[in-house]
Order: sequence, then C-alpha cells, then structure tokens
Amino acid sequence: MNDESQKEKLRQHFARRVTTQARVVLDTWQKIREDRSQAPAHRDDLTAAADKLVRYARRFEMDSHAAAGELILSLLTDWHQDTPLDDAKAKALEDATENLRLSTQRRTDQDTSSAPQQYRRTPVYIALSNEEMASRLIRQLEFFGFRASAFNASADLIEACALSKPETILMDVNFSGKDKDNAGIATVEQLQEQHDTPIPIIFVSDEDGSIETRLRASRCGGEEFFYPAVDPGQLIEKIETYTHGNTVEPYKVLVLDDSRAQAKYMETVLKKAGMTAHIITDPMQIIHALEEFSPEIIILDMYMPGCTGMEIARVIRQQDRFHSVPIIYLSAEEDVSKQLHAMSLGGDDFLTKPIDPKHLIATLHNRGRRARSLLALMIRDSLTGLFNHTHTLHLLEQEIVRARQKDQPMCFAMIDIDFFKKVNDTFGHPIGDRILRSLSMFLKQRLRKTDHIGRYGGEEFAIILPNTRPGDARNVLNEIRERFSELTQQAGDREFNVTFSCGIADWQGETAQALCERADRALYTSKEHGRNCVTLAET
Ligand code: GH3
Ligand code: MG
Ligand code: MG
Repeated sequence: MNDESQKEKLRQHFARRVTTQARVVLDTWQKIREDRSQAPAHRDDLTAAADKLVRYARRFEMDSHAAAGELILSLLTDWHQDTPLDDAKAKALEDATENLRLSTQRRTDQDTSSAPQQYRRTPVYIALSNEEMASRLIRQLEFFGFRASAFNASADLIEACALSKPETILMDVNFSGKDKDNAGIATVEQLQEQHDTPIPIIFVSDEDGSIETRLRASRCGGEEFFYPAVDPGQLIEKIETYTHGNTVEPYKVLVLDDSRAQAKYMETVLKKAGMTAHIITDPMQIIHALEEFSPEIIILDMYMPGCTGMEIARVIRQQDRFHSVPIIYLSAEEDVSKQLHAMSLGGDDFLTKPIDPKHLIATLHNRGRRARSLLALMIRDSLTGLFNHTHTLHLLEQEIVRARQKDQPMCFAMIDIDFFKKVNDTFGHPIGDRILRSLSMFLKQRLRKTDHIGRYGGEEFAIILPNTRPGDARNVLNEIRERFSELTQQAGDREFNVTFSCGIADWQGETAQALCERADRALYTSKEHGRNCVTLAET
C-alpha cells in the first residue's frame, strides 16, 4: 500500500469515529426531546458527548462537525443541571442538532426531510466479518429509515456501546477474530457487562451451528441465531422486531387516592419507573380523567370520602372502552375476604399499604403487558402488526371528531400493491407475505408517530394523517412510494422490485365512509393511470 492510500485509509477510519460520535450526540438529543420532563437527567451526557465530538472533529480536521459541536456546547453553557429545558433553548438545540445531522448524513438522504416526516433514529450496530454484506445491509436499513453503523474491530464496538446503547447488534460469532474461535461471542459477553439490561443480539454464523456455540450465544443475550447466515431481507425483519420491542411506550397509569401525600408518593414511584402517571385526589374527577388521559392501568384507593374504590370500579366498567383496563386496588385492608369481594366487583389486583415500590412496579408491568397484548389481539393484524380494518375505521372516526374540534386538516390515504397476484404466483405466498411485512415496516419507519397505519385488506393499506394538508400528504406518500419501489426484494437469489399505487382524500367535513370512498376512487385512478403513482382525490 502506498503512502497516499494509507493516509486515505486512516482518514476514513478517523472520519468514521467522528460520525459515530456525532450520532451519539444525536441520540442523546433524541432522548431529551422525546421526554422533556427527563431532560435535566441527560444534560450532562449531551455536554460530554458534544465535547468529545468537538475534540475528535478538530483532531481529524472535520470542520463542519467541529462547528456544529461547538454550537451545541455553547448553547449548553447556560442550561444548568437540574433546571428544566425551556422552549427557546430546545428550539435552538433542535436547529443545532439538525445542522449536525445534515453534516453526518449521506448525500442521498439529505432531501428526505420534507414536512410531516420524522424518522426514528434507532441505532443498530452491525459487526460482521463480511464487510460487503455489512455495507449492503446498512444501505437496505437506510431505506427503512434505520440508522446503522458498522464496526471492524471489537474495541470500537465496545466503546460505541458504552457511549450509546444500541437497540440491537447484528453480530458474527467470529467477529474480528480468526475463524472458529467465537471471538464475536466473547466480545458480546464483555460488552453486556456494562449494561443492567442486556442488549438483544442477533447472531449469524457461517460455519458453526453446534449446540455449544448456540448455548453460549444464547446465554449472553443472543435472541436469534442464524446458521447458515441468511439473506438481508430476513435479517432486517429481525432487526425491526428488536428495535420495536425495545421502544415500548411508557405505560399510562391513572391513580385515584384521596390522600394527596399518598398520591404524590405514587406519582414519584411511577415516574421513576418510566411510566406516565396522572394523579387525581377527587373521585368526582374520574370520568373527566378517563376521557382526557385514556389510562392503560388504573389504581384506585379503596376508601375515600363519598364513595369507595369498588363503586368507582363499577362505574368504570360500565364504559365499553374501559371494560378490560386493569384496575388495581390500594388499601390498608388486610382482610382477605374483603379483598376478594373487592376483586369480584371488577378489580384485577390488590395491593396493601404501605406499598413496596418494587412490588408495585412489577405488578403494573405484568398487568400492563398483558393488557396490551390482549388489546393487540383485538385491534391488530397478526401478519403485519398494523391496525386491522375495524380498528382503522374506528381511529378514522376519532380523528374526524378531533379534526372538527380543532379545526385542522386531515388526510386519508389508501395503498394497494401493484400486480401482487403475480408476485405470489412467481415467487410463492411466503415471499408475498414477506413483502406485506416489508411494506408495513417501511410505512411504520417513515411516517410520524401520530399517523395511524392499518392493513385494510389483503394487500391494501390505509393511512390516517392527522393535521396534514393534502399537498404535504401527497409529497410524503410520493416519497415513500418512490423509495419503496427502489427497494430490492429478494427471493432466494432472485432480485426484484415491487411498487404500489395510492389514493389520498383530504377530509372535507364528510363521514368516514364517504372519505374512504373518495380515497378508494383516487386509488383506482392511480391504477388506471399505469400504477406506481399517487392521486389526490377531487373535491
Ligand atoms: P393490481 O395492480 O390491479 O392491484 O393487481 P393485484 O394483482 O395486486 O390485485 P388483485 O386484487 O388481483 O390480487 C391481490 C392479490 O393479493 C390476490 C391475493 O392472492 C393476494 N393476497 C391477499 N392477501 C394476501 C396475503 O395475506 N398474503 C399473500 N401472500 N398474498 C395475499
Ligand atoms: Mg387489491
Ligand atoms: Mg393490488
């Protein structure tokens, strides 16, 4: 290797360090903006990360990164530890991190930041011995809106994990070691020690599928073990599973306790456990609280002035929407027969005061998880995890009410995959299913959290875009359509592309049914005009 090319290689190596560090800064900022109430807790992390970025970037002469980092640091100087982040400062930091994001992104990504899009910025780390496979995966993952970084050496991976815990790692069992010595597993064992909860690992192995290796992999957090290694499509589906599983929304817990001190205490315990708490001390506020907060779990004090927790539970259960929300009673009552009586009146669990916070949180997690999975069975489609037809229509009706109340625009889009029958006929039904999942992942990754995505029928999807103007909806869906059509689909060693057609109707005060019909007509106009396009319904 000559001198120049060696220098270039070194430069690239250092450039990667700077961009990796920039991503740590972006991730930390993401945490802050996602939950402003927890912002002060991350303030020091952000400062440390930005400081390191500036030092790296200066050392390796990457001016735009250094400048972006310096701007962030200067904004942080007058935000003190333990004080909340005010709106003006948050806005300034948002702009500064956006600058950094633009310097970090590849060229091809830069023009995708149009109005209602908001990418999930989940870090996924890739540690594969096959570098070509790694860069191919990163390109594919970028299509889905994931951020992935590849590593060549264990030390770099361990350092990156310490700075910013990834949602999952795709790991070669022999990563950065000689063949057959399981160096990749050893690296995972080492880096899991730095974390309280293990990072889910997807292992791939080209040569070794022995039970010993599988066991060792599973013991250090290996959730999947692919032997022999599989195609990118399957890996991306797995990666999606783990990144979604990890970003659980905090449970929404409503607490009714007439003792203000007790209620405050509960609020602290719940918030510490990362849950969203809503506290009321007046039982007469319950109806209002249910409507406003839509709790997923309810904690009721047993004895209050004016009424009992059991009476409140009955009132709650009389409303269809809250028929299966878990209710947990709280009281100093130790009489088991009274507890049983309370449960028979619509409660799910009973906790006695004084409450052990650990016990409380464990109970809430169990109840919450179960309630969510029951709910998912009712409202989600099992193949794609998207909302099913019935629930999508229900959400559309809700959003129409909201749009009317708030006097905001709203759009409804219908998507239908083009020539899907041919895909099934040519490549088989399982590949067809994979494409349905791939499109649903694509939509989930690329739309806003506030948009609702449903599987409307076989290969038809519906999207509700609240507070969105028709022009913006069309731009976003057109972008998604174009990106999806570029995505390489695989069936064994055959590669092909799939497209979809889309129809959008903007709400004009009509019923949900009329709105659907207009979107459907627009979809058929797209089909008639040669497919692979987006049509906005006529008014
Ligand atoms: P067009 O461009 O006009 O929409 O043509 P198309 O072939 O996509 O439309 P058509 O309605 O004729 O066929 C839809 C196909 O979708 C037929 C059915 O086999 C397939 N399909 C529906 N649900 C599923 C599913 O859950 N899995 C798979 N693999 N295929 C499905
Ligand atoms: Mg169809
Ligand atoms: Mg179709």
